[in-house]
Amino acid sequence: MEGKTNLLDFTLPRLTEWLVEQGEKPFRARQLFQWIHQRGVDDFDAMTDLAKSLREKLKDIAEVTAPAILSEHRSEDGTVKWLFDVGIGNGIETVFIPEEDRGTLCISSQVGCVLDCSFCSTAQQGFNRNLTAAEIVGQVWLANRELAGSLGWKVGDDRIITNIVLMGMGEPLANFRNVIPAIHIFLDDLGFDISRRRVTLSTSGLVPQIYKLAEEVNCALAVSLHAPNDELRSQLVPINRKHNIAELLEACWHYLDEQNGRSVTFEYVMLDGVNDRPEHARELAQLLRGHPAKINLIPFNPFPGTQYRRSPLAVIERFRDELMQRGLIATIRKTRGDDIDAACGQLAGQVTDRTTVRLGSKTFGLQVRA
Ligand code: SAH
Repeated sequence: MEGKTNLLDFTLPRLTEWLVEQGEKPFRARQLFQWIHQRGVDDFDAMTDLAKSLREKLKDIAEVTAPAILSEHRSEDGTVKWLFDVGIGNGIETVFIPEEDRGTLCISSQVGCVLDCSFCSTAQQGFNRNLTAAEIVGQVWLANRELAGSLGWKVGDDRIITNIVLMGMGEPLANFRNVIPAIHIFLDDLGFDISRRRVTLSTSGLVPQIYKLAEEVNCALAVSLHAPNDELRSQLVPINRKHNIAELLEACWHYLDEQNGRSVTFEYVMLDGVNDRPEHARELAQLLRGHPAKINLIPFNPFPGTQYRRSPLAVIERFRDELMQRGLIATIRKTRGDDIDAACGQLAGQVTDRTTVRLGSKTFGLQVRA
């Protein structure tokens, strides 16, 4: 039936409010929320500790619906990539990356992206729309069920998804309204119950939204820096023309102060001959030295039509060493899932309809090239 309320959209406070609006007792929300997120249940009949009358009512007016899976790819290294259906020819990608001590789910926040970073394949797709909170949460909810099923474990087993990173398609801070409730659901101890240091939002640098974020949630922050000076960064990450590096860093330190956070992770994609010289490393060290910063060097992942090449490993290691010699913490990101195009920056999904570009341009005054 159309018009049912999708409960994946609701944080616990909102679910409580909604149940009260339906004439129900507020405490029912906690039970319902746990059934949905911790046990991965979508069938109201199975929620046996809810009164039969409430279950019947929920069947009439509500649903628990994640986007449908269009395809699933499994990499030789254990990485899993799903393409989810988000309507009329549009698809978004979600990637699960298992490691010895953790399982990280990389989720998308928008269908496409307006930011136009020159080295990112999502940018080439153009932009269609923001995902709803239910579509963002639904990626985690469904991945949890799928992974539990394939491992023969219980849904919600806390060994499956230990970390969530908003590093898939889209700019999460450009979809603030829906990303914030989704993060609350990830963190809620009756929801996915993931600790605040294990939910990471990655942004290309929407400065005003970083200040807003500091007021609304408590999660780890990663920033796509990619260059040590404004001239170069403006070429790679065009939003830098609007909010420069100095403004961006100020927002990052403010975020940490407000959140009592330990450090900000700065992502730096290693592009052969572009931003990977030792003098770039020295300039970067100067920029970040003495601040609570970690640097994550990402070997560039190529995609069809790109003008860039990945820096050779020796160059990346030299760059890391230059940073470490200057007292910075720098790591090289392991490339995972590249045999199934699931590595950073390779998520293309499907954006066949690019007509809904207004949102991006109006809200952030960006040039949209769809
Ligand atoms: N829009 C957000 C989150 C998505 S991208 C952001 O910009 O942070 C996640 C990370 O992958 C970002 O640091 C992004 O710059 C990086 N990335 C994009 N394209 C890449 C590519 N082709 N190879 C390696 N990393 C890439």
